[in-house]
Amino acid sequence: MTTAWPQRAACLGLDELFLPEVAVPSKTRAAKAVCHTCPVEAACLADALTTETAGASAFARGYVRGGMSPSARAHLPRVDRDRLIAAGTTEAARV
Ligand code: SF4
Repeated sequence: MTTAWPQRAACLGLDELFLPEVAVPSKTRAAKAVCHTCPVEAACLADALTTETAGASAFARGYVRGGMSPSARAHLPRVDRDRLIAAGTTEAARV
């Protein structure tokens, strides 16, 4: 996966939404809405899914990433996780 895609992130400068000290539902919804307008959403989600356990993210965000909360990412069925990682890796290679 390339490391160029974070430069196109829609959340740059929006730390109040994406790096909250406390998770607040209204901010989580707002962050997800930003993600769904982001041109690198798939790449970001793939990065989150592949690095949360490995700890080597290209884009060190901590809460909502790729339009999903940490809880939603953690509870993805394996088949969906694998499909999203493949799609996001393809997107990241194009950026
Ligand atoms: S998809 Fe990722 S890069 Fe895009 S706005 Fe959301 S957290 Fe930021």
